[in-house]
Amino acid sequence: MSAALEITGLQKTYANGFQALKGIDLKVEEGDFFALLGPNGAGKSTTIGIVSSLVSKTQGNVKICGIDIDDDFSLAKKQIGIVPQEFNFNVFENVEDVLIHQAGYYGIPIGIARKRADYYLEKLGIADKKHVQMRMLSGGMKRRLMIARALVHEPRVLILDEPTAGVDIEMRRSMYDFLRQTNSEGRTIILTTHYLEEAEMLCRNVAIINQGTIVTRGSIKDLLRDLNSETFLLDTQDELPANFSVPGFDLRPIEPTCLEVELARGQDLTEVFTALSQAGASVVSMRNKENRLERMFVNVLEGAS
Ligand code: ADP
Repeated sequence: MSAALEITGLQKTYANGFQALKGIDLKVEEGDFFALLGPNGAGKSTTIGIVSSLVSKTQGNVKICGIDIDDDFSLAKKQIGIVPQEFNFNVFENVEDVLIHQAGYYGIPIGIARKRADYYLEKLGIADKKHVQMRMLSGGMKRRLMIARALVHEPRVLILDEPTAGVDIEMRRSMYDFLRQTNSEGRTIILTTHYLEEAEMLCRNVAIINQGTIVTRGSIKDLLRDLNSETFLLDTQDELPANFSVPGFDLRPIEPTCLEVELARGQDLTEVFTALSQAGASVVSMRNKENRLERMFVNVLEGAS
């Protein structure tokens, strides 16, 4: 069976001379739930743009379900549904028409298009908006409509570029449920995200991209296993006692009322909280010292050097 997406040696230099992709290789198997994960500016949208033909490549090859986009672009394109980051609707069109016109691009008869429109609007929880103009929809509804639009020709692969940008928590959850369901029915899903948590919640496999290069790839479980410690900063109401310590914990006072705690896997902060409050320095706030994604990059880059 051919891979859902196979990219080899992909390079992109923009007209201003900036090299956004420096030769990336990527393979996503059919049926996978895959994240292309990386910070802003890493090259995620450029990659997706090339796969969906919105951006021209400088060098390299892209195969979608075994079909090279240079050999038969329209056949390759039929295999994918794209949910871009930016909304790109005619705001005066109504919701159903958006889907029916999209189906029309793929030569789908109107009767079937209507049925599919109903099916996906229902699945995505916006069936009651069927006759509403686009401009009346909230951001989250527009985003769900973009997913419906990407699926109306029933592609084998669904690609989403930062799918939860501007989507509130509740809607995010229902979007995740829908994506999981469509994946369990056999559709390959590829998404880009800069949220490690999003990849962690949804995806089986990830590739991490940074500055136009894939820095690592593998199962999300394996990558997270390497993230074996996490650092927190605890702000206390009163000054920390001198030589404050809790057996088994790595603690560093960094200010009179701020304690840094390095938590190993399996440890939790409850014991430290209790000890602090017993010592008369109750915790008033806590924060993660660093972003876990950044930590993962550091781990990966250290491993590579
Ligand atoms: P991501 O999606 O990971 O945030 P992008 O693929 O959008 O990253 O961008 C990768 C890099 O390419 C960034 O440094 C961005 O500024 C640059 N870039 C994107 N589009 C253009 C363009 N049209 N012209 C020049 N540089 C661009």
